[in-house]
Amino acid sequence: MKRTIRDLKDIKGKRVLLRCDFNVPLDNWGDILNANRIEAALPTITYLTQQGAKLIVCSHLGRPKGYDKFLSLFPVAVYLMKTFPNKVKFCSKVVGPEVDLAISKLHDGEILVLENLRFEKGEEENSPAFVKELCNICDIYVDDAFGVAHRKQASNYGIALKKPNAMGFLIEKELEVFDKAFKKPAHPFVAIFGGAKVDDKLNLINNVMGMADTIVIGGGMAYTFLQAEGISVGNSICSHELVNDAKEILEKAKAKGIKVLLPIDHIAEADGKVKTVRQPEIEGNFAGFDIGPKTIKMFTSEILNAKQIMWNGPVGKYEDRRFKKGTDKVAQAVAKSGAYSIVGGGDSVSAVEAAGVADKINHLSTGGGASLKLMEGKVLPAVEVIDTI
Ligand code: ADP
Ligand code: MG
Repeated sequence: MKRTIRDLKDIKGKRVLLRCDFNVPLDNWGDILNANRIEAALPTITYLTQQGAKLIVCSHLGRPKGYDKFLSLFPVAVYLMKTFPNKVKFCSKVVGPEVDLAISKLHDGEILVLENLRFEKGEEENSPAFVKELCNICDIYVDDAFGVAHRKQASNYGIALKKPNAMGFLIEKELEVFDKAFKKPAHPFVAIFGGAKVDDKLNLINNVMGMADTIVIGGGMAYTFLQAEGISVGNSICSHELVNDAKEILEKAKAKGIKVLLPIDHIAEADGKVKTVRQPEIEGNFAGFDIGPKTIKMFTSEILNAKQIMWNGPVGKYEDRRFKKGTDKVAQAVAKSGAYSIVGGGDSVSAVEAAGVADKINHLSTGGGASLKLMEGKVLPAVEVIDTI
């Protein structure tokens, strides 16, 4: 079992370095446009301060190349100052004498927010020198940055190898959800896949193969599978080099008795002209950008029957109003089904929010790449290095 913050004893007065994912969208004025990621970290921050830790909080924000005043963590510190009045300080450095001084002034239960980790080159390179500097500013290390848990960086990987550590509530919850969904799935278990490309998603499908009763494939991904069935896809997005892999998956599913649903009609476009294609084949230079009405009916009736649903990838080009109906209908069906539902992936979570049903989904896995790795059944590197107890 991996150690969680609940297992940490005697942290009163200790310097605890907490790695969060505060990679929030900012406008040009430094206003936070969406604070979900900060809110998600509050249970862990609250718990550690209540235990009397001297809490040092760090995160990356955006992709700066060196110092960038538009990507300062100061707005995040201000947000936390409002949440924890009179308890939060900000230091405009990541490591070094200013940080040491600020920490020396920190009282038990207070919070020091450090500047953007990625202002230091050593962070993304996981450089031993930067790891050492981070080690020097803390007694205990806690990781709650789920969004970067699939990467090996200094502040979430290198440091965990060197310091007594634990994971926060956010990462713990994500692991629990996927563990339960895969080890004790409720049946019928319907897995829904979509998105732009099949390339990085085949492993996901392979992983759920052993557990799901039905695999629903829509979006750009569907066309590689339709091609594998010998169905013409016109100008639709298609990974020709993966058609054979798709064929293998379809054969494997058949052998295992898993139902695979592919689109049987489409909303397609060519030269700005949009039309409903009433059969699986797409001819000429038309490209499929959404599932058609018959497919919506077929997909939603399967979804409404499910007891567990896992969904990654919009079933159409949902950012475009003309092609969002399929994804909206799928999202509404997932919400209505009453099934235990998990949605993962950056665009998938946005699509569910855009459909207005986010509050009806049991678990929105907000980690982007990290969520996909969990769906693949992989162990995240940053989790692997957390101490076991
Ligand atoms: P996630 O971020 O949830 O993992 P992806 O990034 O894999 O999802 O997929 C989302 C993208 O897939 C969106 O940009 C969407 O426009 C695109 N997409 C979905 N269906 C199609 C399609 N039929 N043709 C082209 N792009 C599509
Ligand atoms: Mg995406």
